[in-house]
Amino acid sequence: MPDTATLASRPAAARTEHFDVLIVGAGISGVGGAYHLTKQSPEKSFVVLESQESFGGTWLTHKYPGIRSDSDLYTFGYRFKPWTGKPIAPAADIREYMNEVIEENGLARHIRYRHHIETASWSSDDKLWTVEGVRTDTGEAVRFTANFLWMCQGYYRHSVGYTPEWKDMDAFNGRIVHPQTWPEDLDYAGKKVVVIGSGATAATVIPAIAEASGHVTMLQRSPTYFIPARNANDLADTLRQLEVDESWIHEIVRRRILRDQSVFTRRSFEEPDKVREELLAGVRAYIGPDHPLDPHFLPSYRPWRQRIAFVPDGDLFRAIRSGKASVVTDEIDRFVPEGILLKSGKVLEADIVVTATGFDLSVMGDINFAVDGKPLDFADTVTYRGMMFTGVPNMVWVFGYFRASWTLRADLVADFVCRLLGHMEGKQARKVEVAFRPEDKDMKILPWIDEENFNPGYLMRGIHLLPKRGDKPEWQHTQDYWGEKNIFPAIDLDDRAFVYG
Ligand SMILES: Cc1cc2nc3c(=O)[nH]c(=O)nc-3n(C[C@H](O)[C@H](O)[C@H](O)COP(=O)(O)OP(=O)(O)OC[C@H]3O[C@@H](n4cnc5c(N)ncnc54)[C@H](O)[C@@H]3O)c2cc1C
Repeated sequence: MPDTATLASRPAAARTEHFDVLIVGAGISGVGGAYHLTKQSPEKSFVVLESQESFGGTWLTHKYPGIRSDSDLYTFGYRFKPWTGKPIAPAADIREYMNEVIEENGLARHIRYRHHIETASWSSDDKLWTVEGVRTDTGEAVRFTANFLWMCQGYYRHSVGYTPEWKDMDAFNGRIVHPQTWPEDLDYAGKKVVVIGSGATAATVIPAIAEASGHVTMLQRSPTYFIPARNANDLADTLRQLEVDESWIHEIVRRRILRDQSVFTRRSFEEPDKVREELLAGVRAYIGPDHPLDPHFLPSYRPWRQRIAFVPDGDLFRAIRSGKASVVTDEIDRFVPEGILLKSGKVLEADIVVTATGFDLSVMGDINFAVDGKPLDFADTVTYRGMMFTGVPNMVWVFGYFRASWTLRADLVADFVCRLLGHMEGKQARKVEVAFRPEDKDMKILPWIDEENFNPGYLMRGIHLLPKRGDKPEWQHTQDYWGEKNIFPAIDLDDRAFVYG
């Protein structure tokens, strides 16, 4: 959050610029939003404001060795721009893909980099948002007004990752590094490295540094599921051999992947034991007979309660098989000068400790929101389908899928925003807000997500900061692409949940 003293001491913005739509963030969601606006609402003026020096969001922020997607780019890519590379892609290729979207569609002129937004205030009298921030290169204050805010700021704080507080971290003689702020000068050649965590980040960093380092140990509290498989899509390769047009390949392969994922998701609820066995067999195939799955690769939870990382070509397991990497399942008691003392009493020696322990949830990009002068706490609002919020007019946020690729939802939400803007135009409305209908008045109000269904650490740590959900489908943020792909385009914008003014 911006500190109020800094805000007060900075000279006010010299001018105010106005746009119909203001998009916060030039990650995959914001650039996608800009594309959809130019195609579906070409008459609307808009600007994209981005804190960082360039586009990419997640794919610009993260610079640790090996940084890559953990879901396939056919579905992580936009529906409108064919992906022609391998399914799992490095950050640089994802940024190149986004760059092509920006260049091919003339989006660069709409994006302002190094514009960090600090406050957003809605005025019911003016039916406008006033958005204020600072240019990170010049320190100059900036001010914009906009009819509509499209929040594409992601879900975590980009400046710093989440590192738990362990006892005696200061006592450690080596270096502690979070992957989100990986130092360019980090020399791990020949060093003993311990990576804390076993999520997608750990699964990426470990094979990337294993060869050069002395040894890498993955220290996990409990085992995780992985999907190790060849980084290739046979159907795409066949269609390419047949010289099928890339736009067709993109659509066909997306449909195939989405159908397969839908079957996988359903099966993981209906027959979790069978799915578990299949996942474990995948690991067994790559890790080889000398490494029993027990205890390091037998998770205690059902598959799909947390996102399952794809491990391209089983590289993590091949690193373990080669002896360059290994796994320890234990808990940290405290840091000691030579490494980490585990609860089992064993000391894990380390020159470098990498804390692949996740993200710090940031609701709405740490922007201070106010509605008619009153500070807005999103935890006091209830979400309409994970896109809009009670008491917050003319605003939509993009929070993508975790079980399916994030961008599938970014595309769906973009269609919704453009349709809503057109509907407002048709009604000559300058304001739209979601509100409970008479039938919603006694609705049960619940936390943002159902912990039983999906419970990643960063959401659980920050659940008190997130908006609430109701117990009716309209007032929930589901993780169900297969439902929402039909429901979103059919949302009745004249339903009583939408109040226009
Ligand atoms: C390492 C990593 C790998 C991932 N891999 C996958 C994957 O394979 N598949 C998948 O589906 N999902 C993945 N995810 C989730 C991922 O974050 C999303 O899929 C997606 O990239 C998010 O895009 P976004 O544009 O919504 O947000 P972000 O990528 O977070 O971008 C948001 C942008 O908004 C800017 N911003 C934020 N606040 C402000 C502000 N106040 N003022 C101005 N600008 C602001 C930020 O600087 C940033 O550039 C991954 C996440 C991480 C961290």
